[in-house]
Amino acid sequence: MTNVSEKSKLTTYGNIINGKIVQAKDGAVADSIDPSTGEVWAKIPSSKKEDAELVIQAARGAFEGWADLPARTRGDYMRKIGDMIPEYAAELLELETRNNGWVLDEYGYLAEVLKQVWYDAASAATLVGGQGRTVQMGTGDFGFTVRKPYGVVVGILPWNAPLFTFTIKAAYALAAGNTVVIKPAESGAVGSLRYGELISQILPPGVLNVISGSGREIGDYLVSHEEVNKVSLTGSKATAERITKATAHSPKSLIFELGGKSPNIVFEDANIEQAVHGLINGIFTPNSGQICVGGSRMLIQRSIYDEVIGRLKELMTDKEFVKHGNTLDTTNTMGPIANEAQFKSVCRYIDEASKDEYEVVFGGKYGGQEVLPGQPEFADGYWVQPTLVKVADNSTKLAREEIFGPVAVAIPFDTEEEAIQIANDTNFGLAAGVWTQNLGLAHRMIDKLQAGNVWVNTYARVGADLPFSGVKESGYGTDSILDYSQEKACVINIG
Ligand code: NAD
Repeated sequence: MTNVSEKSKLTTYGNIINGKIVQAKDGAVADSIDPSTGEVWAKIPSSKKEDAELVIQAARGAFEGWADLPARTRGDYMRKIGDMIPEYAAELLELETRNNGWVLDEYGYLAEVLKQVWYDAASAATLVGGQGRTVQMGTGDFGFTVRKPYGVVVGILPWNAPLFTFTIKAAYALAAGNTVVIKPAESGAVGSLRYGELISQILPPGVLNVISGSGREIGDYLVSHEEVNKVSLTGSKATAERITKATAHSPKSLIFELGGKSPNIVFEDANIEQAVHGLINGIFTPNSGQICVGGSRMLIQRSIYDEVIGRLKELMTDKEFVKHGNTLDTTNTMGPIANEAQFKSVCRYIDEASKDEYEVVFGGKYGGQEVLPGQPEFADGYWVQPTLVKVADNSTKLAREEIFGPVAVAIPFDTEEEAIQIANDTNFGLAAGVWTQNLGLAHRMIDKLQAGNVWVNTYARVGADLPFSGVKESGYGTDSILDYSQEKACVINIG
């Protein structure tokens, strides 16, 4: 295992092109900042269009050979990548923590999920990727379909969960026979560059490539390139709009996994203690609310509203329960915001909470000196206190906009109908949580909630065994093998 803390300090990571580590042609690099301290801890390539061209040509050059392999052989490659994960898990998890500020995943849950996705893609390669359907045409014609890959897929990653989003895009796209270019967000690039290096050592050259650079510099070039056939973005609605415009002249198949303003709804018959922990895990710990499915709107039935708020406050102001600090120390429970731009954005929302229409229940402070007083090493880190704000209704700014930080609103409701009305009163539709012991109520909520994912008496349960998508402005398409292959319809006249 590589000790990242010692070895990678100010290491310059490179793009992965055609199986090789390559710096940007003009040698430009950008800083990778540790969000807990604000210090530079590694360097990453600052790629330009000429580098983007190289990476696309590498993927294009490898496509035919990769697509022509039997699906089973591609599956064998996916399994080998899954087998590789445990050996490098400690290193990859540490890089992820340095990148996104989530407290180190002591038990390696993330590594286990990554491994399982690669194994799932291995099975999917043969079960789905290599198979089509037969159709009874009834006209003397025999109809059938074959599944074909799209070609070159560009996967664009957000900074909050680089390794997970890398994996769900690359694994299924590769299993289906596409070749792949991954572009991580700059503030989450180091883990992706190293992960890409490890994966590319297993695959034929050019099948999986990684390029680091700013979205503004190389984003349009990558997505609009005529040699690119599919783009899968996990990111914001603003970027989805830019990609839609950039690809207008050369239409491509698009997957958009976008943001959310998800309701986490507690009914009076719920197991209150279980629900309170579900509310906390949904938006505060362990990722400081930087998760697309964050349960940022807590809808609580009025009869239990004070009790639930009281218990939330008790836990979230308990210094043993909420422990900020060194993100590599697994006894801490909450990390910082992942990068400076997002930190400033979250701070603006916390400032908004001082207006008359809000009542801050707990939190409301930000900055290393405020959140971690007396610990100068964290003074310049992007620290924010978990913050809960009471709002009278769903119309306020804090109840409507995606904050993407540890800031939630609490909204009371009286009836099931009102809960549904408030929950659906948003442009987003990524996820929803429901806490109740009533099976009928749970099913009615599942039926009525406008969300791609609904969890009952649990929250944020995602994995390789279920699809993951949004509705409304939360996007469309899933990073599954079905979405990375297309059916070709064939008919043979059999007389
Ligand atoms: P972002 O949209 O700012 O950036 C996402 C990626 O797009 C980055 O790699 C960026 O460099 C790239 N990009 C920027 N401009 C581009 C352009 N013109 N062309 C191509 N690529 C471009 O999003 P973010 O701030 O990194 O991530 C936070 C957002 O992602 C939130 O809205 C969050 O909800 C969402 N998210 C969604 C999911 C999901 O699965 N639904 C998961 C995680 C995050």
